[in-house]
Amino acid sequence: MRATGSAAQMASVLQAAVAAGINHIETAPAYGPAESFLGLALTDLRQQQPELAADLVITSKLLPGLSLEEGQQQLRQVLERLGLPQLHNLAVHGLNRSEHLEWALRGEGSALLAWAQAEGLVQQVGFSSHGSNDLIEEALASEQFQFCSLHLHWFDQQRIPLAQAALQRGIGVLAISPADKGGRLYAPPAPLIEDCAPFHPLELAYRFLLDQGISTLSLGAAQASDLSLASALAPSGGRWLSPAHRAALARIESNGAARLGDSACHQCRACLPCPKEVPIPALLRLRNLDIGHGMRAFAEERYNLIGRAGHWWEQINADACQRCGDCLPRCPHQLPIPDLLAETHRRLAAAPRRRLWG
Ligand code: SF4
Ligand code: SF4
Repeated sequence: MRATGSAAQMASVLQAAVAAGINHIETAPAYGPAESFLGLALTDLRQQQPELAADLVITSKLLPGLSLEEGQQQLRQVLERLGLPQLHNLAVHGLNRSEHLEWALRGEGSALLAWAQAEGLVQQVGFSSHGSNDLIEEALASEQFQFCSLHLHWFDQQRIPLAQAALQRGIGVLAISPADKGGRLYAPPAPLIEDCAPFHPLELAYRFLLDQGISTLSLGAAQASDLSLASALAPSGGRWLSPAHRAALARIESNGAARLGDSACHQCRACLPCPKEVPIPALLRLRNLDIGHGMRAFAEERYNLIGRAGHWWEQINADACQRCGDCLPRCPHQLPIPDLLAETHRRLAAAPRRRLWG
């Protein structure tokens, strides 16, 4: 998705990926020229290192809502661009809303996925989702999907139980973007670096997910150097987390909790639903990251994306709170939720506009 500047850039990322031991490449038509560049890079790899090329698992994704005919045409184009007779994995790209699931299970998407498998154009089908836990649970329970790609992060663990339940059923689980969406961990702030020392925050994030049994991490490399950490990542003594890694993770958690004091949101979701549909836990999680770990840049970026990314991210920010008080008795930690939301909005909202006023 990120190595789309040129065919040469994609080729160098692919070379670095196989050199690092990576064996799964995920792409999509929605990523501009990514598939075309990847197809060229795969052709080169097949000539130079045929055994490594043969071992690669290739995944691509189609957006939900296509007619059967559109989907058939798009899948054929995917295969043509990638230079492959068959995809290992075809995912529904962004099964984020109930209508997307309906499309995939009972609508034209269902016919498309069945056709793709019957024709031998894909080995297995799955989905990526940024949607609610209930929606993901329903998709997994349908038994129509053999893998899923979810937001699973060291700093956002709410979907880990879902992922583990999927793994127990034999459904492969890919963690979407643990580096970027997991907190811009490739450019960590100073407090986080200090708390994680002697480890890099990204190394701990990757190791945490692998220790949880997650079968694939999506590393989102834009250049070969983005994969240097991956090439150095290996289990120590057969385990992804050594006692020193576990001590670092515990220290980060306790330092974050100390900075937040009794204003920490514990992400239990008991405050929901809000009549104004304010996504209280998601917003207070950004506040937790800002205050607890100094992750201001990430928190601001995510907060200011609210309402601007369609069904890929939250639609309502903290400003929508009407202080009705409905959530207050539901919070087991007696948090002053409306006050914390207002403070979150002041901290994170529209940084450029705020600077205009000094
Ligand atoms: S006080 Fe605000 S956040 Fe809480 S339920 Fe009412 S509108 Fe929603
Ligand atoms: S109930 Fe309280 S602690 Fe739990 S998610 Fe809501 S605000 Fe956070």
